[in-house]
Amino acid sequence: MIKFVNVSKAYPNGSVALEDVNLEIEKGEFVTIVGPSGAGKTTLNKLMLAEEEPTEGTVLFENTDINTFNNAQTTRLRRRIGMVFQEFRLLPNKTAYENIAFAMEAAGKSDEEIVSDVPHVLQLVDLADRMFHFPNQLSGGEKQRLAIARAIINQPEVLIADEPTGNLDMHNTSEVIEILKKINDLGTTVVLTTHDQQLIKAVGQRIISMERGRIVGDDNKARTTV
Ligand code: ADP
Repeated sequence: MIKFVNVSKAYPNGSVALEDVNLEIEKGEFVTIVGPSGAGKTTLNKLMLAEEEPTEGTVLFENTDINTFNNAQTTRLRRRIGMVFQEFRLLPNKTAYENIAFAMEAAGKSDEEIVSDVPHVLQLVDLADRMFHFPNQLSGGEKQRLAIARAIINQPEVLIADEPTGNLDMHNTSEVIEILKKINDLGTTVVLTTHDQQLIKAVGQRIISMERGRIVGDDNKARTTV
């Protein structure tokens, strides 16, 4: 589904973020990318969204080089990929319900769809009783679960979670991981990045280790047992 072929990325200031990365993520996988700060994880995510271009090599989404896309095709690609960030990026002046409704409106969904889908997705992330709370009335874990609900409401095929537990304690971290697993069980490909070596034990699926821009380990046993 997503493929990196001999991808290197150097930023204009000369920082080399990725070096000769080869990686294939299949539909339906739950992939965790682990590595210390500066290893290149965020750059990898940006390349998947065509927010950055590789200096060398090719990034393919369903066998098409995404860096040949025109604007309309890039917009379509980004609609197929949901994003969750460490710092949540919720709209502070909108309730939980409205944060999700807003993402649906932006994707052209009808009022009927919004009224019927928002409560369902809030239930999926165990926030049915927080529907009319504002972000500052939610705990960190609740905020991240709301951000996940918003990221999946338009049914992307892939969910990229970039350090989603970076601001959370252990209890909330495991709740977020359980929800990501549930979303993966429902068919969405999940790509989780983290610097937290402890976290990968809780995830227990394919783990890709990165160091200084290179993939130094790829435990894809989960893939071969499917
Ligand atoms: P991680 O997400 O694993 O912390 P990043 O992909 O953010 O890693 O960064 C990888 C390397 O690329 C680091 O050395 C970082 O300083 C550099 N880098 C990231 N973004 C930029 C940028 N926009 N301009 C210049 N260098 C960057």
